[in-house]
Amino acid sequence: MDFEYTQEEEAFRQEVRDFLDENLVPRDERGPDFLKNWLTGVRAKRWVGFSWPRDVGGGGANLTRQAILKEEMAVRNAPPLGFSFMGLSWVGPAIIQYGTEEQKDRFIPDILDSKVQWCTGFSEPNVGSDLASLQCKAERDGDFYIVNGQKIWTSGAASADWIILLTRTNWDPDNKHDGITTLLVDMKSSGIEVRPIENMAGQRHFAEVFFTDVKVPVENRLGEESNGWRVTISSLANERSSIGEVTGLFQQLDELKDLVKRTRRRGRPAAQDPRARRRLGEFEARIEAMKLNGLRYLTKQIRGEPLSSETSVNKLHRAHLEVEMSDFAVELLGESGLVRDGDAAVDNGRWARASLSWPNVVIGGGTPNIQKNIIAERILGLPKD
Ligand SMILES: Cc1cc2nc3c(=O)[nH]c(=O)nc-3n(C[C@H](O)[C@H](O)[C@H](O)COP(=O)(O)OP(=O)(O)OC[C@H]3O[C@@H](n4cnc5c(N)ncnc54)[C@H](O)[C@@H]3O)c2cc1C
Repeated sequence: MDFEYTQEEEAFRQEVRDFLDENLVPRDERGPDFLKNWLTGVRAKRWVGFSWPRDVGGGGANLTRQAILKEEMAVRNAPPLGFSFMGLSWVGPAIIQYGTEEQKDRFIPDILDSKVQWCTGFSEPNVGSDLASLQCKAERDGDFYIVNGQKIWTSGAASADWIILLTRTNWDPDNKHDGITTLLVDMKSSGIEVRPIENMAGQRHFAEVFFTDVKVPVENRLGEESNGWRVTISSLANERSSIGEVTGLFQQLDELKDLVKRTRRRGRPAAQDPRARRRLGEFEARIEAMKLNGLRYLTKQIRGEPLSSETSVNKLHRAHLEVEMSDFAVELLGESGLVRDGDAAVDNGRWARASLSWPNVVIGGGTPNIQKNIIAERILGLPKD
């Protein structure tokens, strides 16, 4: 296994570093003007949708270059390459793969230019891990689908312009994966009601979304009718290089080391506390292992071999690691580690908020139990649960 980069790839890395040297300012100086210029700059470089085909406005980059870009951006704590987060992460790739030419022309430029926000309507009150049991109904009526049902935990629903919605157009009890249809729905459509839910960190990121006789033009269907499960599964596999995410963990570890250096524990600098030192060393070793695993995934993808169950290993590691790292910070700080706001909040309450935000990393992308089931069945070859 060769983890070396070619000369061209190293030259590209240097190009990214030069761009960052020229364009990045410290985090607390990044106002609206900076962000506007940043988005224009990265778009001009075609780094937004870097791996998307050039004919839809992407960069046409291969996976290695994409990984280098993500890695360099994460190391320098750069802002995102665009603010249409779900649009860039997976709605765009789904439209590129399954959309009509009209859908690509209509939706892709706005995603690349950060002009629209998308949200994802998958989970329902009784449907999460077992997503294929979803009930939200879409019935065909001439040139429209009429949608009735409810979604929940829809991140960003209150401010989203569009929702990618999984609906049921047909129910076959013997094969619940059939009969699911993906619709692209304008959030301003009549009959949509959004009720925000406050999480335990006091944030209102997600919401319940109710659909009552919502009319969706048939031309807004993504892929074939009843083929929505394939659209979902294959689209989620897009943009899977995890190198940038691992680099983000190294970044967090640096912040943690810095915190340890400036904190006192039991009357002496925490950096001299054996337990604190041991924990930091352990985090470092686990992140390094994740990084090497990420490079193995990348190597496989470059060889044209599809990724499948192995990504569950890093997902599981990441979930545990992030939680343990933020809990360690809170424990180190004692009661002030729990303060989120005001003068007493350490680092503006960053650690308190991180420790309360564990569901984002633990549940997002499938819960640990689900990842363990996948590893048990598909990697260890144990019988199905
Ligand atoms: C921060 C955050 C943002 C989210 N954003 C979105 C979004 O934008 N759009 C969206 O559609 N959804 C979103 N979700 C919802 C998320 O996808 C679901 O919470 C997730 O799929 C789990 O489903 P559930 O909550 O119904 O739990 P359940 O599936 O009911 O699981 C409950 C518990 O049972 C366990 N369990 C379930 N099945 C099995 C099994 N077969 N074997 C062993 N254990 C099992 C699970 O591990 C879990 O511990 C978000 C969730 C969070 C936390």
